[in-house]
Amino acid sequence: MYKIKTLSSGYKVLYLDCVVAVDEIEEISATDFDAVYIEYKNISPTEIALILQKTSPFVSKKCRMKPRFISSRLKDRSLSFAAVIDGFVTDINDPQISERIEGIYYNLSRMEFYEAADVSSNPIILFLKLCKYALSRNMITFTSCLIPGYSEGFSAIYQAISGNTPMNVMEQFARYIHILEDLEYIEKTDFIERVHLCPECGSSHLLYMECCPKCHSSHIKQESVIHHFRCANISPESTYAYDGEYRCPKCHHILRHIGVDYDRPANIHTCKKCSHTFINTQMKVICSHCNKTMTPADLTPMDIYRYSFTPDGIAAISSNEATLAINRDIWKGYSKFSSFLSQIQLLSYSRGNNKDIFISRFKIEGDGIRKDIAMDILEDLQHRYHYNNFSYDMPYIYMASKISKDTNEETLLHIKEEIENIISSIEIKYGNIHITDITYFHLKDKERINSFIKQTKTTKPLINA
Ligand SMILES: [Zn+2]
Ligand SMILES: [Zn+2]
Ligand SMILES: [Zn+2]
Repeated sequence: MYKIKTLSSGYKVLYLDCVVAVDEIEEISATDFDAVYIEYKNISPTEIALILQKTSPFVSKKCRMKPRFISSRLKDRSLSFAAVIDGFVTDINDPQISERIEGIYYNLSRMEFYEAADVSSNPIILFLKLCKYALSRNMITFTSCLIPGYSEGFSAIYQAISGNTPMNVMEQFARYIHILEDLEYIEKTDFIERVHLCPECGSSHLLYMECCPKCHSSHIKQESVIHHFRCANISPESTYAYDGEYRCPKCHHILRHIGVDYDRPANIHTCKKCSHTFINTQMKVICSHCNKTMTPADLTPMDIYRYSFTPDGIAAISSNEATLAINRDIWKGYSKFSSFLSQIQLLSYSRGNNKDIFISRFKIEGDGIRKDIAMDILEDLQHRYHYNNFSYDMPYIYMASKISKDTNEETLLHIKEEIENIISSIEIKYGNIHITDITYFHLKDKERINSFIKQTKTTKPLINA
């Protein structure tokens, strides 16, 4: 059932206690209510999810951006949606609730809304709506990651409405974050944690287990090693077991006192599957999302940062300026080095990618090389290569492009020749610089992409810019 009641503050509230397709009911119009309230009735989390979906502030035409509250008696059943709920309340008539509604409307009144025919189908529009929603709720900071427990603010909203297909969601989210950062709409404020993700699917749901270094089974047993002083025999405890006592397997003497007859110098492991004995176990990691088994070294490290919207960002998101700026191709033009690497990484994750990545890297050397020279050079390069992504991590300049998987050696040689010509002309133009160490990376698969990224992280910049 639904009903509309007016609070003493004058706000009209749509009360719901079951799934109601608000947009489809003619009797309810968008102007009939200012807020939504899910009141207590014994309803399941699934029903709550459906009610929230039907009153989505991002998709529903009648509920657009409107405040939503849930009875605190339903809190346990709706915690996973907390990011898209404006409060759990015991009394909807509480003046604090009206203040909250007023605050949200005040923030919303300062923002423009982009009215498009099929708003929800365009991911950029939806994404900006989420930003607007976050800002209207005073959520200025958020994390770069969608890992539950880490996500807050805008990233938590994104996660709440995007379901839980890890890579698909993460990929899209990360792409937008990099665009926002490049546009300086957001900035990093804190480093939070470095987490490790599955290199195959990007999931963080990983299981770590100790295993046999030979056959990788985790069916292993730990036991101590006994050292018999008298004959110097050293072997696992189980080899001494004899009728409830310890008897040396070599000299057959009975062992009585630890410290006098024998000691336990170490622990060893025995594999129950292949019988191999070893001192140190190995770690293996299993991705609970895609089932891949790997070693900890195979995992992709990912740094989680806290971001906050900048004043310019808030202004651009509040107006329609962001819609235009955000809708550009991130594979063109200049990117900050961290975004540059992330874009390459993302391409390796994206399904249906049928392109290789070709990267040219070269080093600028010379007296007093500064960042602005690198920027000038990048500008010159961009002028020549429209469909490339550029970056620098002093003293290296990077150029990346997507090339067809069937690009042959001859074409590659031609590309390299051309790049070397351009580089010579840059050297002539800038006079006092030298370009050395020209290296090409043809990244054909995930493995090569990951090793390229790892390598760039360990290359220490030689010149401080
Ligand atoms: Zn084994
Ligand atoms: Zn012995
Ligand atoms: Zn995986």
